[in-house]
Amino acid sequence: MLTRLYEHKQISLREYQEALAEEVPANRRVWPFLAPHFCLEIKKRYSQESQVITTIDLDLQVLIEALVAAEIEKLESKGITNAAVIVIDNHRHELLAAVGSADFFNVRHQGQVNGYLAPRSPGSTLKPFVYALGMERGLITPKHYLEDVPVLYGGYSPENYDRAYSGLVSAEGALQRSLNVPAVNLLADLGGEALHELLRKAGFTTITPVNHYGLSMVLGGCEVNLLELTALYSSLACGGRYYSPKTRMVPGTAPPKTLFSPGVAYVITQILTEVLRPDLPACWEFSSLPKVAWKTGTSYGHKDAWSIGYNPRYTVGVWVGNFSGAGRPELIGAETAAPLLFDIFNKLNQHSAVQWFKQPSTVKQREVCALSGQKPGPHCPTLVTDYYLADCSPDTECAFHQTYLVDPETGYRLPPHYYSSSKALTEMVYVQYPPRIASWLEKNGRPIDKLPPLLRDWQRLRPGRVPVIHSPSPDYVYQLRPGAPREYQKICLEAAAGNDVHKLYWFIDGEFLGSAAPGERLFYLPEPGVHRVVCQDDQGRSAEVKMVISE
Ligand SMILES: [Zn+2]
Repeated sequence: MLTRLYEHKQISLREYQEALAEEVPANRRVWPFLAPHFCLEIKKRYSQESQVITTIDLDLQVLIEALVAAEIEKLESKGITNAAVIVIDNHRHELLAAVGSADFFNVRHQGQVNGYLAPRSPGSTLKPFVYALGMERGLITPKHYLEDVPVLYGGYSPENYDRAYSGLVSAEGALQRSLNVPAVNLLADLGGEALHELLRKAGFTTITPVNHYGLSMVLGGCEVNLLELTALYSSLACGGRYYSPKTRMVPGTAPPKTLFSPGVAYVITQILTEVLRPDLPACWEFSSLPKVAWKTGTSYGHKDAWSIGYNPRYTVGVWVGNFSGAGRPELIGAETAAPLLFDIFNKLNQHSAVQWFKQPSTVKQREVCALSGQKPGPHCPTLVTDYYLADCSPDTECAFHQTYLVDPETGYRLPPHYYSSSKALTEMVYVQYPPRIASWLEKNGRPIDKLPPLLRDWQRLRPGRVPVIHSPSPDYVYQLRPGAPREYQKICLEAAAGNDVHKLYWFIDGEFLGSAAPGERLFYLPEPGVHRVVCQDDQGRSAEVKMVISE
């Protein structure tokens, strides 16, 4: 062939000799097969165009594909067969790497499924956004207390991962320990819709327009995909502004959507950056970890392990699981997905030194009560430093550390502002817990301050905390089971009260039913109809709920 070309003067002698010297390939060369899931997506989306220049960083993509394959090889013996990874450039808002599975050609483990677009339960990975909303709406600061006690929401009772409760936790502690109950309480305080609205605003395609998820959404009771979830985390690295990540090189960026203020994004980032987090595997060397703000998640039934992290430059999302949906006990975010996340950050940080986020001018620090996290009152014994936002943080004074007056002669408590010219009164400091926390602490054998009885003449209507009725729930219709005796269908009455309360009195439709201590249960023989349930404490303060019983 070459000789004929030379003889017909189609190539020069030099070209002929050079061509002869070149080795003839023994096999057909393998076509480059890079970023297969991503390329398929691009081909689908831009099918009319002959050439698309994408944002994928090929070196990084190849590197991460290799890391994913190596990690899954290690995990395969445990029945864990796939992983997906997304890397976003926070400055340019571009998708730099997108790995959809461990091995595209592995038919047995459905390697062609695109893991970064597959809708999965997010586990705890949405929690930081509920805390961000709580901060934005002025409900919390990092040290502000949250209740971590059993609570019932119309038949739904969230539990913590370890089924234990702490009574009282700081917001940052609750987020770092990924506690379920405080997160659900916070979402309930936000109005339940808040997280759904946020995900809709960030364009989550897996979330239905109507919010039928309820409060369990914050615990992973919905579906997300890794790409959209990682983009949402990227907003925390971009001062609270959400950008839909670009996938091809076109000029300009779509205008961002503001999800949070820069101050809120900064404070949440500081909380997620705490390195000594209890959910870190014990075997890790903390000193060698790159500085990353991060959160893990594990879905119900151990089907999905998530780990998402960011620094000012990159946001990385990792999902590990099985496309068959099979759960494995080892599928835990902190143990299965986090090592891959940190491997990737270690590689990324080799390329560029990272300067950490700058504190926005709206973020300030102040001293707060160590127990309540609220602005210190005159009787708070211990103070700690806390971040707050100049424009939207709670400003109330500590409601926990209170004083009362005692008549040293009789031992009776005196009403606040009582004045006597004839004798010296003793002022005592005590801790007044919110009702639910007080009754939980007491039930669990933790000592709480009990107030001495009030001077008899003053035991009338008093200001202060009213009882909190836990049961019956006003959001619930108590359906009687036909045929079953009413005795077996009694409805529980239970309320919490402040720790100045010893007894609660229960009334149904104005009739006295009985008395019980705070946290103690009474039972009501159900009568169909709508009833008015009143709970009055021994100080005269009362609460009421509607109880609906249907046949
Ligand atoms: Zn205090």
